[in-house]
Amino acid sequence: MNIKESEELFNLSQQVIPGGVNSPVRAFRAVGRNPLFIKRAQGSHITDEDDNTYIDYVGSWGPAILGHAHPQVIESVQRACRDGLTFGAPTRKEYLLAEMICEAMPSIEKVRLVNSGTEAVMSAIRTARGYTGREYIIKFKGNYHGHSDGLLVKAGSGALTTTVPDSGGVPADYSRNTLIALYNDRESVHALMEQYKDKVAAVIVEPVAANMGVVLPEEGFLKFLRDITQEYGSLLIFDEVITGFRLGYGGAQEWYGVFPDMTTLGKIIGGGMPLAAYGGRKEIMDQVSPVGPVYQAGTLSGNPVATTAGIETLKLLKAHPEYYTQMEQHAARLAEAFRKFGRRKHEKIYVNQIASLLCAFYTDREVVDYDTAVSSDVKEYAEHFGYLLEHGIYTAPAQFEAMFVSVAHTEEDIQKTCNIILG
Ligand SMILES: *Cc1c(COP(=O)(O)O)cnc(C)c1O
Repeated sequence: MNIKESEELFNLSQQVIPGGVNSPVRAFRAVGRNPLFIKRAQGSHITDEDDNTYIDYVGSWGPAILGHAHPQVIESVQRACRDGLTFGAPTRKEYLLAEMICEAMPSIEKVRLVNSGTEAVMSAIRTARGYTGREYIIKFKGNYHGHSDGLLVKAGSGALTTTVPDSGGVPADYSRNTLIALYNDRESVHALMEQYKDKVAAVIVEPVAANMGVVLPEEGFLKFLRDITQEYGSLLIFDEVITGFRLGYGGAQEWYGVFPDMTTLGKIIGGGMPLAAYGGRKEIMDQVSPVGPVYQAGTLSGNPVATTAGIETLKLLKAHPEYYTQMEQHAARLAEAFRKFGRRKHEKIYVNQIASLLCAFYTDREVVDYDTAVSSDVKEYAEHFGYLLEHGIYTAPAQFEAMFVSVAHTEEDIQKTCNIILG
């Protein structure tokens, strides 16, 4: 595998960008390698600067559910560009996308468009605090909600694999109002609720945890969160930045039949452009300025090019429910290949898979929460990652991330990938 250009670009980038990357996981440090610089992508394949082509299972960490550069999305975006890139004024497309989101997820009666998942979650929490007049929030260890100050506590994703688990530069005061419970551990939530009683504004959760690898909610766990938040007068926020429009068109809330007060979205809804959203019940969202006292704004929010990419992506997903069936079947076959590999080589692989998300953990334990997730042998992950990469399969360069299957993965891609996984 020739990676001369990538190496060269990495050296140059490191001189002007911290670590040479604009988001830490991209640096490949968790797998002890240097990153590949990507120059283009089409369908299920990405191509690096040295013209190596890989079957891509990162999918830009979620947005590329249709595969890369879907012709219908690209054409619409090109058309939108010709009409101007940004106006800083309301547009028809913002209305159309907002309406599509509300229709897909009936728990969302009103929605605000922003630019990143980080911003969506930060704003949702501010709104929840404004609405309830309470200060504390409960989050789960290993759940990731973006990089805003108050949420970088026991966070997942990149924060799990850097040497400092939580971030420098965050004053203790900023995260003092963030309480940490354990995913799938009802008692840990109950204990905090009892201790803080009427001070908890919201419980925020990734309904399917996808930033500590993939960890599924135990039967009844989400329903339990729905009930306990209602009992204590707190809001329930589902962070569906990954699961929204991925588990199905209606997201995790539709899949599990549990409906939160507020939802955050990102990744897929921008169709590959920077776009995210937060929404919820009308009376909660009417706390937001200019109707209510909770301030939140954005120069590029609801950008016409980004909303175009989002609308086209959602349109295609909505028109093709069979896409979800196909992705799920493909993901299940990949999961089975990893299990088979485990039985053959190590006898210690545990695979979680739901819809088009999956993750293989290199452990002999059943992965059901944070502790069992981090029992994975990350050296073995790195080794298998390297093998896959050298054979043309691009997976997440870190254990505690998901593997994303897209609509563009063909029968042939999946068969080839299964064969390579098996070695
Ligand atoms: C990716 C992610 C975020 C942050 O979104 P950005 O667009 O990267 O800021 C928040 N929550 C979850 C669950 C995510 O997966």
